[in-house]
Amino acid sequence: MQNTSLIGFSVGEKNESSFHAVNPSTGEASSVSYFSASENEVVRACELAESAKFEMAGMSGMEKAIFLRLVADRIEQKVGELVKVATFETGLPEGRIRGETTRTCGQLRMFADLVEEGSWVDARIDSEIPDREPVPKPDLRSMLRPVGPVAVFCASNFPLAFSVAGGDTASAWAAGCPVIVKAHHAHPGTALLVGEIVVQSIKDSKMPEGCFSLLFGEGRTIGQSIVKQSSIKAVGFTGSRAGGRAIFDLASSREEPIPVFAEMSSINPIFLLPDMDLARMNEVAEGLYASATMGVGQFCTNPGVVFYPDTTIGHSFKDTFLDRMNEFEPGAMLHVGIKDSYYGDIDKMSRIDGVRVLSKSRNEISKNCYARTAVLGAEMDLFLKNPELSNEIFGPATMLISYKSESELISAAEILDGQLTASIFGSAQDLTKNDDLVSILETKAGRLLFNQFPTGVEVCESIVHGGPYPATTDGRSTSVGTGAILRFTRPVCYQGFPDSFLPDELKESNPLNIRRKKV
Ligand code: NAP
Repeated sequence: MQNTSLIGFSVGEKNESSFHAVNPSTGEASSVSYFSASENEVVRACELAESAKFEMAGMSGMEKAIFLRLVADRIEQKVGELVKVATFETGLPEGRIRGETTRTCGQLRMFADLVEEGSWVDARIDSEIPDREPVPKPDLRSMLRPVGPVAVFCASNFPLAFSVAGGDTASAWAAGCPVIVKAHHAHPGTALLVGEIVVQSIKDSKMPEGCFSLLFGEGRTIGQSIVKQSSIKAVGFTGSRAGGRAIFDLASSREEPIPVFAEMSSINPIFLLPDMDLARMNEVAEGLYASATMGVGQFCTNPGVVFYPDTTIGHSFKDTFLDRMNEFEPGAMLHVGIKDSYYGDIDKMSRIDGVRVLSKSRNEISKNCYARTAVLGAEMDLFLKNPELSNEIFGPATMLISYKSESELISAAEILDGQLTASIFGSAQDLTKNDDLVSILETKAGRLLFNQFPTGVEVCESIVHGGPYPATTDGRSTSVGTGAILRFTRPVCYQGFPDSFLPDELKESNPLNIRRKKV
């Protein structure tokens, strides 16, 4: 197997700048060296993408669908190999890697169906009215077109579903954009396996070479160099707030600023309304435990802060939750950087005056990247005064905040930063009484949940996986579901063109039989 970057149909050069994947469960380094791309290779990948952009933009929905399904079929065929490499590189269990494979292929096929059907282009037609008074109305027709080459940064916590052929890449290809992927340093072998499948699928689909490149290298050098290339027209990213913000600032300071769709930090607040009885509160505590520890807490929708009533029933909720969190068997985090930030962030939070460490799981940690749970507690007064309590701790840590009155819940919602999700638990009656809370949360989060936990994101038409800053750098978008394609498009209007010259989507006879807005 090659272990250099993939630049179009060529492989990169081996040089002195190499790195190894490390198994986070054991600390064992892989014997394979991966070589970082050079600046010249970044330039070459971007030149190829630039040269492929017109042909890719001209592909029909059917042609793109065939390609997307081919990639999905071939990823599925390699699931055994992917499990072997990805479990080593990420410490994730086999079931999770198989699940990620299914999700990745499902996303590719979902976009294949979307572009094959074709109505996603939002075709709008205003037919001409030559005799309109006082001035004639011209013929105007618009639809969404691809923005051009897109840079995608692989996510550490989704080695397949948000990496080389994951949601960002699939949606950019579906829109008709070439993609340059910056691999994550934690899972290079997984990236390469998928990258090779993609290259072969491009060749077999007779698509142009520059539709895809996969580059290894550090974010601060190679990643930034990709974003700076003038041919790159948008960026998809999942990771830390610091990383996403750095890329956003860089992209905004280019001579031609470009949009960055960075999905970053979120504490996914949970509001427990006061009218739940003891049995229900305990049920919620059990559900919260499952959600907070899923994947060792390494999901962007992990519930990081919970507001609970300062009542006897509220305290019973807290005790049940603490008991469950104490039982957690430590699990391997994805890489040593994530584990170090997890413990560093808990320490920082614990040192804030008034924050109590309610529990740290009793199980001893024996291995390299293993992490245990932590539960921190504070009263609402402190939460309202100290913005640091709203910072994300990425991992299986939860902050419990007790409140005395529902007006305090409103105050807490008002000071929250932008979030991916916000969840409310209670009765429908209590929800009606607290409709102000819902109105505020609508301005804060991309997805509101009632009596459900935020982990386990459904990939579908209606999902919104996004939210106001700092959850993302662009709260108008979603990175999951069919809506993700819109990030890599822009509307183009054709005025006065002869019918024969128009894209099929806009021709008078509607040969593709798509849904259109026609005036
Ligand atoms: P990360 O450090 O932000 O890295 C993600 C990607 O961005 C990597 O490819 C990285 O390159 C690159 N990168 C980072 N800083 C950059 C910069 N200044 N300029 C250009 N590229 C840059 O995220 P991570 O490795 O996934 O995890 C680290 C932390 O991110 C976690 O502890 C957690 O706090 C947060 N995180 C949050 C979420 C979420 O969904 N909320 C998900 C994952 C991680 P290198 O590989 O070279 O560093």
